[in-house]
Amino acid sequence: MRKKIVAGNWKMNLLPEEALELYRQIDSDYCADDCELLVFPPIMYVRDLIAQHGQISVGVQNFHPEESGAYTGEISVSQVSSCGVKHALVGHSERRMIFNESNDFLKEKINAALTHDIVPLVCCGEPLEIRDMDSHVAYVTNQLAETIGHLAESEIVRCIIAYEPIWAIGTGRTASIDQAQEMHASIRYWLKNQFGEQVGAIITILYGGSCNASNASELFACPDVDGGLIGGASLDAASFLKIARSF
Ligand code: PEP
Repeated sequence: MRKKIVAGNWKMNLLPEEALELYRQIDSDYCADDCELLVFPPIMYVRDLIAQHGQISVGVQNFHPEESGAYTGEISVSQVSSCGVKHALVGHSERRMIFNESNDFLKEKINAALTHDIVPLVCCGEPLEIRDMDSHVAYVTNQLAETIGHLAESEIVRCIIAYEPIWAIGTGRTASIDQAQEMHASIRYWLKNQFGEQVGAIITILYGGSCNASNASELFACPDVDGGLIGGASLDAASFLKIARSF
């Protein structure tokens, strides 16, 4: 049985009281069932939200793989770990595109996260021009090969993968059921080839990209889609919880 997960990426949104209120609403209205919920708030709210001791895990959107040093403005992997963080987004397309994070650098971040017992939620996904050329599967599997292909079995089983086609993020244009299932099945096929049949079968693969309360159930019904990474719709407690109940 694979873990079902719905994760909210709050990006650079919400003031402190709004973040606390949103967390409390989600946490109090969530009835633990078989779906795990994660939220990724702006870094400055992480400690306060962890201190709520809720059932919803609180992760970070970013960290630097070095332990410490002259990296003005950055927050190190050991600093986030020492705050009790257990999950981190790695490889989100906004970090890849706006902050020029390369596959090599993402590989370092994934290694650092695993060393500190932090689960990396590894994002991958193609831009529109790659899909239009019908090269999306090769593009995404290359991203995976260069970021997680080197991991040992004991490490890959601790990772979560999120497929997020860049053309669907924040655009209101979601992948069709066929497009999502095709890519998720291809990712799982790659995982099985790389790490073995059993390992590939148990890794959670989330879909992200304009997933909302109206389309989540049909996406989550795809055999290889194990949940969602949600941006815009995670900023509203009712929508986020409706998505979590869409399995
Ligand atoms: C995201 O940024 O990870 C995302 C999926 O955003 P949205 O749901 O807003 O498309």
